Amino acid sequence: MKNLWSDKDARAFTRRYAKQGVNTDLALRVYTTQLLGGEPKLVLHGGGNTSVKTTAPDFLGTETNVLCVKGSGWDMGNIEPPGLPAVRLEPLQEMARLRRLSDEDMVNAQRVNLLDASSPNPSVETLLHAFLPHKFIDHTHANAVLALSDQPGGDAVCRQVFGDRVGYVPYIMPGFDLSKKAKQVFDENPKVEGLILFKHGIFSFGDTAKQAYGRMIRLVTMAEKYIRANRRKSSVSVKLPKAMATVAEIAPILRGATTHGGKPMVLDFRTSKAIRTFVDGRNIRRYSQQGTVTPDHVIRTKHKPLIAPVPEAGKLEAFKAGVVKAVTAYEAGYHAYFKRNNAKQKIRKTELDPMPRLVLAPGLGLFGMGPNAKAAAIAADLAENNVDVINDAEAMSTYAVIPERDIFDLEYWSLEQAKLGKGAEKPLARKVVVVTGAGSGIGAATARAFAAQGAEVAVLDRDGKAAATVAADTGGLAVRCDVTDTASVDTAFDWVCESYGGVDIVVSNAGAAWQGRIGDVDDDILRQSFELNFWAHQSVARRAVSIMRAQGNGGCLLFNTSKQAVNPGQDFGPYGVPKAATLFLMRQYAVDHGADGIRSNAVNADRIRSGLLDDGMIASRSRARGLSEADYMGGNLLKREVTAKDVAQAFVDLALAQSTTAAVITVDGGNIAAALR
Ligand code: ZN
Repeated sequence: MKNLWSDKDARAFTRRYAKQGVNTDLALRVYTTQLLGGEPKLVLHGGGNTSVKTTAPDFLGTETNVLCVKGSGWDMGNIEPPGLPAVRLEPLQEMARLRRLSDEDMVNAQRVNLLDASSPNPSVETLLHAFLPHKFIDHTHANAVLALSDQPGGDAVCRQVFGDRVGYVPYIMPGFDLSKKAKQVFDENPKVEGLILFKHGIFSFGDTAKQAYGRMIRLVTMAEKYIRANRRKSSVSVKLPKAMATVAEIAPILRGATTHGGKPMVLDFRTSKAIRTFVDGRNIRRYSQQGTVTPDHVIRTKHKPLIAPVPEAGKLEAFKAGVVKAVTAYEAGYHAYFKRNNAKQKIRKTELDPMPRLVLAPGLGLFGMGPNAKAAAIAADLAENNVDVINDAEAMSTYAVIPERDIFDLEYWSLEQAKLGKGAEKPLARKVVVVTGAGSGIGAATARAFAAQGAEVAVLDRDGKAAATVAADTGGLAVRCDVTDTASVDTAFDWVCESYGGVDIVVSNAGAAWQGRIGDVDDDILRQSFELNFWAHQSVARRAVSIMRAQGNGGCLLFNTSKQAVNPGQDFGPYGVPKAATLFLMRQYAVDHGADGIRSNAVNADRIRSGLLDDGMIASRSRARGLSEADYMGGNLLKREVTAKDVAQAFVDLALAQSTTAAVITVDGGNIAAALR
């Protein structure tokens, strides 16, 4: 592993933070913490922690000895000084004299000794940092070290590789007991540069940030060299069918089967050579079911991944039946795991949901799963990490980790669960929404409105750049798509399934207004309008419905029709006629797919600035009617200008209206001629 320390960068950090009143110790602590956190083979997503012993003024201005240690909820890769809260050092060190300390008392002692009461909770490994004498201490869950440790006799392998450069700490759950044990191991040989925590990770320490970081890199490099020299076996793959089903075909099936209590997961697909070695391996049922490579992954990935059946092309019904069976078995296995281990707890725990967070799909790759796209991506990142470690361990020996009761203790440890930060979910959390024509106007406002309600939004637009801008705003997925081209629609929906696992709500919004007197208008114009204002709605809805039926969770289709569909305007036939057909298309979907739990509704909007009306059109139309622009735009019963946001809100309202189908909501400020009867 490359040592990325640069004197120049270190000076730049020191200078930059000095301006903010941050001392050199803490500035350099931030620098190397970011260096470690930027390497996924060392730590990922909140894993690992670092500290520095320094001084800071207390509330009286007295320089006080403190431990600045990583706070819970911060990522090492992008940590800043507030992510390393200062805790009074001496009281922490004195706690080493205690025989026992409960987790609650430990957390309390750490909090009451914070210099800043608004700081995040110091790491659960704070006492370990405090009990060791070194100024700088680094802790990671380095893949290479885990690959050595996570095998039968892994302790001996580690001793062979690192000799007496480091101390060796048996597996103990983080907290007071581990901190005491680490101190004891260190005291037996104070010359060591670091500690190996079996089946957990590695600590390195030093007098300077550079020394502690350099030792971490050197120790990890020693482990990497050993692995390279000792890979003995290559993995044997199962025989796969000639043609595999696609990711887009199987993702909605997996998503449907893992929906628990009406709550679907969001999926994130990954594949690579290493992942394929792992998921195609003949021994997948053994090595994939041992547990996570380091215990704290369990809160995001669960103890074991689900193994899907081999997805063969053209045999999706058999695949679905296999998945349902596998999920049922997974659930039963999780209940049994909970029951077995909860029985041994002093304080009984409440069972978490029994659904997997990882699915292995032989022949294709793996899926991370979670209540939102971010959680799914974190699970998938951790899975990739686990794949690397397990592949290496299997190449040397066999993969083996701590017993399940230790994993259970960590999964159900309140201090670990606190890292997930449970808030109430937003109304459309876990839902995947596709909005067409979402690069601007009503579509963009709709994408934003759905994202604000917690949905994962795929922003489809003919203009890829416009889609990217809105997607960046909403944290969504930008997809370039020409809705009048069925191949483009199919590709777009495939991409949405690969990115999120399926589709729950579609806002078929893309449209454009063509004009012409119906007796004179060119057939080409009318046909062109039908392509976009009718056929595109059909291609989008048909593809969405096929995905929704594969999921089996119902669904929601929303169409942007227009006042023209109900109340034709003069010379607007080319626009209104296909829109009228789309209004009936909406009803037909409601009739034919109601039994699938799929609702179908429309919004009937009129006179929206930044909808189909651009400023030039508004000016010319108001002039033609002898009205001011404001009077023209507010020419409705409410005398109120209707905005794209109003239309977006109507789409959201319909998405939430669980018992409403075949309805049209009017968003036009009141136009009695366009009222539906
Ligand atoms: Zn750790």
